[in-house]
Amino acid sequence: MAPVDREIQVAMHVIVLGAGVVGLTTAWYLRADGHEVTVVERNSDVASETSFANGGQLSYSYVAPLAGPGVLSKLPKWLLRGDSPVRYRPRADLQQWRWLAQFVRACTHRQSEESTRRLLSLSFFSRDLMDELLAGEPDLSFDHANAGKLVVHRTKASFDAARRLLEYQRSLGCEQEALDAAACVAKEPALAHLAGDISGGIFTGSEDAGDCYQFCVGLMRLLRKRGVVFRFGTTVTRLQRISPRRIKAFTADEDLQADHVVIATGSSSVPLLGRLGVRAPLYPLKGYSLTATLDHQALAPRVSITDYERKVVYARLGDRLRIAGMADIGGRRADMNAGRVATLRAAAKAMFPGTADFDTAVAWCGLRPATPKGLPVIDRTPFDNLWLNIGHGALGFTLALASGRLIGDLISRRRPAIPTSGFALADA
Ligand SMILES: Cc1cc2nc3c(=O)[nH]c(=O)nc-3n(C[C@H](O)[C@H](O)[C@H](O)COP(=O)(O)OP(=O)(O)OC[C@H]3O[C@@H](n4cnc5c(N)ncnc54)[C@H](O)[C@@H]3O)c2cc1C
Repeated sequence: MAPVDREIQVAMHVIVLGAGVVGLTTAWYLRADGHEVTVVERNSDVASETSFANGGQLSYSYVAPLAGPGVLSKLPKWLLRGDSPVRYRPRADLQQWRWLAQFVRACTHRQSEESTRRLLSLSFFSRDLMDELLAGEPDLSFDHANAGKLVVHRTKASFDAARRLLEYQRSLGCEQEALDAAACVAKEPALAHLAGDISGGIFTGSEDAGDCYQFCVGLMRLLRKRGVVFRFGTTVTRLQRISPRRIKAFTADEDLQADHVVIATGSSSVPLLGRLGVRAPLYPLKGYSLTATLDHQALAPRVSITDYERKVVYARLGDRLRIAGMADIGGRRADMNAGRVATLRAAAKAMFPGTADFDTAVAWCGLRPATPKGLPVIDRTPFDNLWLNIGHGALGFTLALASGRLIGDLISRRRPAIPTSGFALADA
C-alpha cells in the first residue's frame, strides 16, 4: 500500500457502494488514509459487472470523448446500420432523450478539447499512481504489460485527422509518433498481412494493458489484509434523507451505519440517486468483448492494437487475446445480442487470422456508465455525507486509481492532488 504520508484529522467509517474497479480503488485510498472502510456489493465477487472483461487498456493517452465535432454527421448511419461500431436505438425513455440532447450539445470542438484536457490530467495522474502501486505491491498480478499501443488507420482521411490530434495532444504532454504502414508492421509484425490496407498508425509507447478482473481480485486481497470489510450479496435498496443534509443507506432488512457513503455503483447509480432527487447524468453504453486463448502465441500481437475505423481494440493478456468494441445506446440491460457478437468475431478473424479459435472465444457484454461529455463525476452531492465516484464511461480501468485518490482527498478534507474542476456534478 502507498505509504500513509497524508495527515487526516479524524478517522471515519466510510461505506463504499459497489465493488467494481472504481469502488475498490476508492476503498484503497480511503484505507490508506486510515479510515474504517466497508465495501458493499450485491454480487458474490468483485468486478462482476462492467469491470469484468473490458478491453484491458490502460489507455492513458487515448482519452478523447465520444462526443466530438465529427459525430453528428454519423448519426444516420448509427440509426440505420446493424454493424456500425456505435448503434443508436431510440427508446421511450426520457432519460435517454435528455442524455442524448446533452451529448449533442457536447459535440463541439471546444468541449471535446476541454474534456480531453481534463481527462488527460486524470489519466496521467492515474499512470503515476499505477507505477506507485506496482512498486509497492510487486505481487499484484493481472497480466499487466507495458507494450505500448498502436492505433491503426485504414483511410488517409482518418490518419490525417489523427496526426492533427497528435499535435494537440503533444501540446498537453503526450508522447506519440505517427508511423507509415511499413513502420506499423515493423512495430507489430502480427499486422504484416494487413500492410496494404493500412494508411498509417499512431504509436504510444507509454500505454499499458492488463486484466481488470484480476486487478480487482488482487486489490480485494490486499484490502482485506488491511482490514477492509467486504459485504457481498448485499444490495442497497434505497438511500434515504435522515436530515436536511444527511442520508442513510438501507438494504431490504437493515440500515447501514456509516459517517460517509460513496456511490461507485456504475450505471446502477441512476435509480438509487433518483429517489433522493439527485440526477446522475449517466446513460449506459453497451459494449462487447471476446476473450480467446491463443493457439499460436508467436503470431499474436504484443502491442495493444486499435482498429480505428471499426473501433475494435485488441489487448494481449498473457496467453489470451482480449477483443473489445461496440457502443450501443439503446437500453439498460446487459443482455447479449448475437449479431453484435458475430460482428466482433468476424473482425477478430480478419485482423489476426490463425492466432486463436475466435468462434469459441468467450463472449461478454457490459454497460459503460457514460456521461454526455465523457467526464466522470468525482464530487459530493448536496448531502454532506454522500459522495459520487461515477461515470467513467469507456475509461474506468484507466482512471480508477486517480478518481479513487481524489475522492479520498475530498472526504479527508485535503486539497485534491490534482484540480477537480470539470468533475463536479454540476459540470456533468
Ligand atoms: C466492452 C467494454 C470495454 C471497455 N474497455 C475498457 C478499457 O479498455 N479500458 C478502460 O479503462 N475501461 C474500459 N471500459 C470501461 C470500464 O470497464 C468501466 O468504466 C468500469 O468498469 C466502470 O467501473 P465501475 O466500478 O464504475 O462500475 P462496475 O464495474 O459496474 O461496478 C459497479 C458495482 O456496483 C454494484 N452495485 C450496483 N448497484 C448496487 C446496489 N444497489 N447495491 C450494491 N451493489 C451495487 C454492481 O454489482 C457492480 O459490481 C470498457 C467497458 C466495456 C463495456
